[in-house]
Amino acid sequence: QSQELSHVRIDYHAALLALQEQGTRMVCTGKMHTDRICRFDYLCYCTEAEEFIFFHSNASVMLPNLGPRRFQPALLDLSSVEDHNTQYFNFLELPAAALKYMPKPVFVPDVTLILNRFNADNLMHIFHDDLLPIFYTMQQYTDLDDEARLVFMEGWGEGSHFDLYRLLSSKQPLLKEHLRNFGKLMCFTKSYVGLTKMTTWYQYGFVQPQGPKANILVSGNEIRQFASFIMDRLNITTEERPEGDDYIVLFSRTSNRLILNEAELILALAQEYKMRTVTVSLEEQTFASIVQLISAASMLVSMHGAQLITSMFLPRGAAVIELFPYAVNPEQYTPYKTLASLPGMDLQYISWRNTIEENSVAYPDRPWDQGGIAHLEKEEQERILASKEVPRHLCCRNPEWLFRIYQDTIVDIPAFLEVLREGVKVKPNLKKSKPASVVHPGRVRQPKCQTSVQAAHEAKLSVSWQIPWNLKYLKVREVKYEVWIQEQGENTYMPYILPQQNYTFSENIKPFTTYLVWVRCIFNKNLLGPFADVLICKT
Ligand code: UDP
Repeated sequence: QSQELSHVRIDYHAALLALQEQGTRMVCTGKMHTDRICRFDYLCYCTEAEEFIFFHSNASVMLPNLGPRRFQPALLDLSSVEDHNTQYFNFLELPAAALKYMPKPVFVPDVTLILNRFNADNLMHIFHDDLLPIFYTMQQYTDLDDEARLVFMEGWGEGSHFDLYRLLSSKQPLLKEHLRNFGKLMCFTKSYVGLTKMTTWYQYGFVQPQGPKANILVSGNEIRQFASFIMDRLNITTEERPEGDDYIVLFSRTSNRLILNEAELILALAQEYKMRTVTVSLEEQTFASIVQLISAASMLVSMHGAQLITSMFLPRGAAVIELFPYAVNPEQYTPYKTLASLPGMDLQYISWRNTIEENSVAYPDRPWDQGGIAHLEKEEQERILASKEVPRHLCCRNPEWLFRIYQDTIVDIPAFLEVLREGVKVKPNLKKSKPASVVHPGRVRQPKCQTSVQAAHEAKLSVSWQIPWNLKYLKVREVKYEVWIQEQGENTYMPYILPQQNYTFSENIKPFTTYLVWVRCIFNKNLLGPFADVLICKT
């Protein structure tokens, strides 16, 4: 295993002098530890103490300079999971003069991205928590290019899909355990610490039950661009397939959470959709060959589980069918539903749950982490066995959840097909469907109002405006305008949707009154533009 740091020789003496004289310099983005990424010159790491070190000199910079708030609770999150207390980053401080008494530093010449992987043995976590955030953090800082060095500080071994991390840069990623091989003191010439959280869409339930993140900032476009990058690096090409060669992929798990009548399910799918149905599993195919298959499939069918993250490789218009074991409510566990439903992801999503207890095989005697409940009090075991649905719970060791989610299932074929017939609206061969337009309207221009008083109780308010500037360059199916009229001092307003660029309001318009009027443009029913500056109209 090659762990040499670079083929480029660096001038050791010059680097040492720079460290001694300049010390460490840090400039960060973000107001809070949860949205912070820091860039360092000469951040060091002591492998004996397992601590990062900031060397102070007259030329040091530390921005933000938080004082002791740096420990409340930390400088930043080292993984993409928000505010997790096992994932905090901080450093120790020393005067640069202390270098005289310390082991000779080894310099890392590569531009380095330092982070924690969250769970490198689970494919969903690998993609959602690590690969996507690493990819887009690297897009944010241009010197984190294909030659960048990734350093994983969570302290685990390679994990089950280390090859996927290798796709992100041409240099071998380093694990915490590798760092000792370089010596007692390592100094990263240029490094970034932390990950963007903008691409994550799911929170795992550490403080409230799991669910979609409150403020999702990623769209299908970014997910698909990342997916193409990964396919590119895996040497997967999507060749045109002949018309009518549509197929369904059944992603099966082979060690637990099984579908017990897979053969029957495959037959039913093939008959219903007149398509061939292929089975894949992580145990039997390479990851690349699975992605290759999924990337041209019309439908992906699978039990709930991390393997469903591969739905990001489906073509637009394809359908994701997620199966849930008995007593598990699909609405409470939606990482894959949320992914499929991101704007611009253009996937159909349908869940099916087993509602027939006899079609379920549970494993109460397995170890707790595979859903065993034998270690629980008798009463608690009985309560779980009698329960028809897992109540809402926090991550990660809820025994009732684990017991239910690790059941095997006989899929009731008629019930399953019924759900598909209701859910998959069109026969899923819209694979060539075009990405929907995502261009938003600009502000309407030159908004104006005119008023007139007709009688003691009658007045008119005419509002007109020009089309948004970008509209003349666009082909938009439907252009509408929304007008809000609010009587000054009131806290409610009347909304109107109009197809034209002017309108005279007379209903509910009073003489000698001041109205505030807002106007905005809407494309294709749901692409909202900004409001123009408020009009103040006196009747
Ligand atoms: N896994 C698998 N086959 C199996 C069971 C699990 O390939 O029969 C993979 C799964 O895709 C995930 C990892 O093993 O990447 C951990 O699975 P676990 O059941 O712990 O997590 P989950 O799938 O529920 O997220």
